[in-house]
Amino acid sequence: MPRNLTRDLLERGRDRQLRLAVTGLSRAGKTAFLTSLIDQLRHAGLEARLDLLPAAREGRLLGARRVEQQDLGVPRFPFDRALAALDADPPQWPAPTRGISELRLSIRYRPSRPGWIGGDTRQLTLDLFDYPGEWLLDLPLLEHDFASWCRAQRFDGERAALFAGWQREVADLDPAQEVDEARLAEIAERYAEGLRAAREAGFSDLQPGRFLLPGELEGAPVLQFFPLPGLDKADPAVLAQLPPESLYATLARRFRHYQQHIVKPFYRDHFRRFDRQIVLVDVLGALNAGPERFEDLSRALTRLMQSFDYGRRSLLSRLFAPRIDRLAIAATKADHVTPEQHPRLTGLLQALLAEPLKDLRFADVPVRALSLAAIRATEAREVDHRGQRQPVLRGTTLEGEDTLLFPGEVPTTLPDAGFWRRQGFTFTAFRPQPRAGGALPHIRLDAALEWLIGDKLT
Ligand code: GDP
Repeated sequence: MPRNLTRDLLERGRDRQLRLAVTGLSRAGKTAFLTSLIDQLRHAGLEARLDLLPAAREGRLLGARRVEQQDLGVPRFPFDRALAALDADPPQWPAPTRGISELRLSIRYRPSRPGWIGGDTRQLTLDLFDYPGEWLLDLPLLEHDFASWCRAQRFDGERAALFAGWQREVADLDPAQEVDEARLAEIAERYAEGLRAAREAGFSDLQPGRFLLPGELEGAPVLQFFPLPGLDKADPAVLAQLPPESLYATLARRFRHYQQHIVKPFYRDHFRRFDRQIVLVDVLGALNAGPERFEDLSRALTRLMQSFDYGRRSLLSRLFAPRIDRLAIAATKADHVTPEQHPRLTGLLQALLAEPLKDLRFADVPVRALSLAAIRATEAREVDHRGQRQPVLRGTTLEGEDTLLFPGEVPTTLPDAGFWRRQGFTFTAFRPQPRAGGALPHIRLDAALEWLIGDKLT
């Protein structure tokens, strides 16, 4: 048999499948991204604009359809609901997903070098997953025991006020006292309230992640624990000797349960099986929220990225052999700034992730940074301003007002005190544009697709 024919048969027989995961902290833009990605692929070969994806540019991408997913235990990504929101009058942003969800696409394409077998189209099965980045913030928690985790939590600066309710209640607890279950549940709820308030206020570096997005665990005792302040003064040997019904031993038990039964299974059952990953970051949102939140995002991202650092001695490679072989990190909502600011936005994302990126390169995980808008809600225009052309954005605010504005310059390096004093950033949230049929408008979603799946469509 000629060699080419053998290769063709092998190609055909091989199960061509790719598991692509999308993550990011709440409101980073995961739901919008996945909705648009599915929409673009379904319109591929028709109206979708995917010029940065060679398979599409060369007319080889023939289309995609949804097929039944493999793991029936994982909720399906609510694509139809998301499209219905975007098609409402006036258009609305889709409601965000809260836990893990999945959708399977079967993509039809023609290979770039046609084979010997006639009618040469191929299929790629693309499994898409969406899960909260907050879950990844829990990885470092696996390296702690309860006492060291307590010591690592921070409640200073603006956080002090947000956690004040909980701090009042824990202040005079004695680790040795006998546990009162009902009281413990109440204090845990105060702690969760503090985390939620901090999240609302724009903080990102918050643990445990499931307290923010409990899903089906809402109200379960495994989510009823909290750090005990002041443990640095306690003798570890004395703490270890406390009886099982003491407050300390109860909290420590729940902490261990959370590690073993919540954090580890996510890595073991899902994360371990992803082939490719995109991490979405709302850099502009953090820039808009001010210096303390920006710092906090930087800390949270450094933590989150540890899940992709498979250096030989990393915690993950000790747990199992991860297989993500390509990673993208993307600054989302790029349509909030004028086009000449886009390279600066990518630059800022890279500055924000400088340290984790160094580790990833060291660990040999190929990674690409970009800026994109999954669902472009504005249009770029130019106006005359004192005889000069000035770039502006045109869009409709959430309240329905048409506006023309210049939101500001994106710094390319981490903003210093001077930036915050001088300039800041004015961020206006826009309503999605009504869709005149066809695929959703986007910015560089095709560049993300090229990096994440392009090599599988050749
Ligand atoms: P998730 O919590 O990560 O799933 O985030 P969502 O996808 O729900 O996005 C949060 C919000 O960010 C949306 O409701 C929109 O207001 C905004 N958003 C997300 N993507 C875009 C985008 O591409 N352009 C614009 N202008 N806004 C976006």
